Amino acid sequence: MASVSINKATKRYGNLVVLKGVSVDIEDGEFAVLIGPSGCGKSTLLRMIAGLEDITGGEIEIGDRVVNDLPPKDRDIAMVFQNYALYPHMTVEQNMGFSLKLQGISKAEIASKVDSAAQILGLEDLLDRQPRQLSGGQRQRVAMGRAIVRDPQLFLFDEPLSNLDAKLRVQMRAEIKELHQRLQTTTIYVTHDQVEAMTMADKIVVMRDGVIEQIGAPLDLYDRPLNTFVASFIGSPS
Ligand code: ADP
Ligand code: MG
Repeated sequence: MASVSINKATKRYGNLVVLKGVSVDIEDGEFAVLIGPSGCGKSTLLRMIAGLEDITGGEIEIGDRVVNDLPPKDRDIAMVFQNYALYPHMTVEQNMGFSLKLQGISKAEIASKVDSAAQILGLEDLLDRQPRQLSGGQRQRVAMGRAIVRDPQLFLFDEPLSNLDAKLRVQMRAEIKELHQRLQTTTIYVTHDQVEAMTMADKIVVMRDGVIEQIGAPLDLYDRPLNTFVASFIGSPS
């Protein structure tokens, strides 16, 4: 586990300033949700934390290391995306073990890590299947399995449930929270869904147009929004 500290982070693409200096601290073991309208810079910030985008200005610290110049593979992070991008020709077991194989970890150790992740996620009976033989929810669990086996110090989720139907979304929300309660891994979860944010977050970070409007526990934001944007955004169901 690790705390994350973002200090006046900026991001610019040419003349377009996408992040205008955002600062937020996320505690060890916390489940933080980044929420805001489409295009406000959530994915960009998450990708900068992962090291998939350069940071234009400011600082990102994970644990007690400034990671600005650290490549993604050295950040000890696992990311789960909306389009799970499973390898179609590999089984569930191979999908889950692939990153470990790349790291040169022994077959026996990979098998044991994949087994324990499969148990946590209820995938024990599906290890030999290929992605096309799975339901949407099962695929999402495999994507989470790939993240879990790496035992990272930080989980990053980018709208992982937005491709699922409403019923499954509610179920997966609960599963992700359970997973967090079990592993206690620091998590940053991006969504534009207010209900998701209110039900899952320890801390909500509300963004608009490249700035952070407010940071607080769900009920704080609900009871004491700092401005009408936060009030209307948090108050309106998706
Ligand atoms: P969100 O995830 O909140 O919907 P993004 O972080 O994806 O928002 O995008 C924020 C802004 O940055 C948008 O205006 C988007 O068009 C722009 N943007 C994102 N990636 C790039 C890129 N590679 N080049 C230029 N502009 C980009
Ligand atoms: Mg996005």
